[in-house]
Formats: sequence, C-alpha cells, structure tokens
Amino acid sequence: MGSLADLHCHSTFSDGRLTPTKLVDLAYRNGVRILSLTDHDIVDGLPEAFEAAKRYDDFTLIPGIEMSTDVPGNEVHILGHFIDRHNPAFLNRLKRLQESRLNRARLMVEKLVQLDKPVSWERVEFFAGEGTVGRPHVALALVEAGHVTSVNEAFDRYLSRNGPAYVSRDRLGPEEVVALLLGVGGMATLAHPRELFAAGTLESLLEALQAAGLTGMEVYYQDYLPQEIKTFHDLASRYGLIPLGGSDYHGLGGPQQREPGDIPLPTEPVQKLLSLAEERGALERARIAHAR
Ligand SMILES: [Zn+2]
Ligand SMILES: [Zn+2]
Repeated sequence: MGSLADLHCHSTFSDGRLTPTKLVDLAYRNGVRILSLTDHDIVDGLPEAFEAAKRYDDFTLIPGIEMSTDVPGNEVHILGHFIDRHNPAFLNRLKRLQESRLNRARLMVEKLVQLDKPVSWERVEFFAGEGTVGRPHVALALVEAGHVTSVNEAFDRYLSRNGPAYVSRDRLGPEEVVALLLGVGGMATLAHPRELFAAGTLESLLEALQAAGLTGMEVYYQDYLPQEIKTFHDLASRYGLIPLGGSDYHGLGGPQQREPGDIPLPTEPVQKLLSLAEERGALERARIAHAR
C-alpha cells in the first residue's frame, strides 16, 4: 500500500462498484489523503463525494472526470482534474454525448432487426450494466442471440465501420477533449498509455496533445512494471508533462485491479498539479485539507 494520492477512481455513477461515499471511506482507510473521483463522462457522483470528504479534516478531494475519445483502432481516455463541475455548457455537452451514445446504440439495434438478426434493447442494456451502452454490448447481445459465435465475429460481420449495422457517432477527438477540459478550467492527463505505446501511436498523440495543452500523463498505474514506469516517466519528461497516476479502482476484482492508493505515485508530482491549479485559480474547486 502506499501512495498519499490517487487521481483516478470510479464509483457507481459510472462502472465502479462502490458509491462515492464508500470509495472515499476506503481510500481514506488505505491512507490516501488526496483523491480524485473520475467517473466516465459524468460528474454526477461528485456532490456525494464532496459530502463524504467533509467528514475528514485531512482529506483533499479533487473534482475529476475520465472522458472517452475516439481515435481509429484505439480507445484514448483523458482525465480531467479540477474541472468546474457546475459549468452549464460543460454539463450540457456531457448530456448530449450521453444521449448520442444511447441513440447510436438504439439505431444499431434497429438496423440489426432490419437485417433479420434481431437483438433486444433490454439485453444490450443488461450487458452495459452501469456503464455507457456501446458497440461491445450490442456485440454481446448478438452472440447471446446466436447470430454470431464471438464478439469479434459480431464486429467483423455487422458492427465494424463498414459493417451493415454500423452507425457513426458524435465523435470527440482527444484534442477536442483536452480543449473541453481546459475550457472548464481543468487540467488534462492522458490515462493508461500502455496500449497506445504498444500500438506505436503514443508519441504522435503526445505531440498533438501537448500542443493542445495537455498537463500530465498517467505513469503510475495499476500493474505497470518498474520498466514501464521508467519508459513513461521519460516520455512525460520529454513532452513536459507531469508524471501522474492512479489505481483506476472499480472494485470489480481481477488480476490487474489495485486498491485505491496501491500505486507507487510519489507526492511531488501531485504537489506540482496542486500548484498549477493554484496558479490557475482552480484550487478553490477542490476540497483542500492541509492537516497532514
Ligand atoms: Zn480508462
Ligand atoms: Zn478509469
């Protein structure tokens, strides 16, 4: 166990298992004193997290979000910290994104019915669980209905970009997300870069995002090995990014899952993020406690 800060955690407001209150309590018990709740594309869990944080006089809560972006062939997630969670335009944008994802999934289900490969909307929703409905859940419903034998086949035959049941969506590129987060006074951090690094697309992305105003990159994350941490730390330095990190705690178990705070994130880069927030006048959005 060990880090004083954890800048990436999920609650029941996206696909985590714990309520914001239980998450704050668990993080506190684990020794975390600076936490950010970063649910997927939603800020609705933050009021409860702030209420819970108030009960501890040495606990800092940073308002956060994890936004999904679209790039060909890969998922790019970007964390926003110190965002203005009350900004009406921002909240409106999040709501429209959510609606567009739902509409898109509904349209795909309609297309499948027309193609004589019907799946039920209820099953698609079931597979999505607490998360946002997307193509993988439509794919699982196709497998369950016996129209295909695997998720891969579902994508290959129906759901890929050129597939007959494909519906395009309101795309938000990584640069747009960084701009959106900066626009609400937040700071943007590229999340879990391992897959992007493996795909060979990390450096070009970092170059583009650095120009867009990216602040940090997750370097200390879940099961990242010392060698990986070094690689990402070097890359962060090269692009002038703060080497941050988090457990990405969901409470769902699994071999990669780490408890809140169970990452080797040093305090110094977190202090850097806090100083930067102070310079930008964003510190007041967090609940800051200094008794440590
Ligand atoms: Zn993520
Ligand atoms: Zn996450």
